[in-house]
Amino acid sequence: MKATSGPVARLPYGVTPAFARLARSEDPRRDPIAAQYVPTESERVTLPYETDDPIGDTRYLVTERLVHHYTDRALLLVSDRCATYCRFCFRRHFTGHGGGRITESQLEDACTYLGGAPGIKEILLSGGDPLMLSDQELETIIGRLKKVDPRYIIRVCTRMPVFLPSRVTESLAHMLGSFDSIWAVIHADHPRELSDDLRVAVRRLLAAGIPVLDQTVLLRGINDDADTLEELFRGLVRAGVKPYYLFQGDLAAGTSHFRVTIERGIELMRELRSRLSGLALPTYAVDLPRGAGKVPIESSLLRIEEDAYVLRGPDGGEHRYPRESNQGGHP
Ligand SMILES: *Cc1c(COP(=O)(O)O)cnc(C)c1O
Repeated sequence: MKATSGPVARLPYGVTPAFARLARSEDPRRDPIAAQYVPTESERVTLPYETDDPIGDTRYLVTERLVHHYTDRALLLVSDRCATYCRFCFRRHFTGHGGGRITESQLEDACTYLGGAPGIKEILLSGGDPLMLSDQELETIIGRLKKVDPRYIIRVCTRMPVFLPSRVTESLAHMLGSFDSIWAVIHADHPRELSDDLRVAVRRLLAAGIPVLDQTVLLRGINDDADTLEELFRGLVRAGVKPYYLFQGDLAAGTSHFRVTIERGIELMRELRSRLSGLALPTYAVDLPRGAGKVPIESSLLRIEEDAYVLRGPDGGEHRYPRESNQGGHP
């Protein structure tokens, strides 16, 4: 595959002391934590089919901050900031680009759209990281959404329990828990992220009546072996978190060195299924290129061709995800 060496996709560098402390080496080639936040030269390699918006958010933007891709749910981009920037970020067209927090008028525009779309039952708060906002700002946003429909299920998608567990204060949990039907979806990629502080943060959310799920990205050299994933998923369940998705890497610009082949992903899932209970086993999923949608890989894979995996999309059609060699591009 021909690769171009271009400008680094503009993703800021930033890490919390709490996350950096989990690393045992600053060298991203040696440490699964450092590899997630330390920029490397490999980010400069952009493959022809990689983009800054691999899951097609912009195609489904219905207002400045609202992505309506799936019938019954919509995703609200409430902040462009994160406490730590994952070098494999798939939303690099938005994350850290200075859009900042959602403005009052952007929130009103989103609510106007939602008011005219009664099919939407669930709102994901994402970004960036919603917990970069103050409790007050979050309360205003959730309160405004619940004014459109008090029955909305609100999903808070955040890596803060991993990056800055102390952000999950008693008062934050209490505020979130004062609303009905709030769920939290955290994102952990390595068992070392399951610190005592993370356990405290999760316990606070659970005590406030907020169920907690996890999504994990399958990452080369970080968690692409059965022992690591087993320890991660079992550890999450122990902490009270249900592993929800294991994501195949998206085709984000400058991230090929993080991707694992789908064959390997399927092999890992097979191995994990023999080791873990259903409670601990997530669904291995991929966002099909060009915004064709999220699908479970194992039940959607139709065939493997020389240069592509062919999967059945949510539209019923066939979609191709490139079959890459697991060689080059590693830092
Ligand atoms: C992933 C995603 C969702 C949620 O999908 P689930 O399969 O319900 O987790 C909703 N909106 C967008 C834009 C998404 O990318």
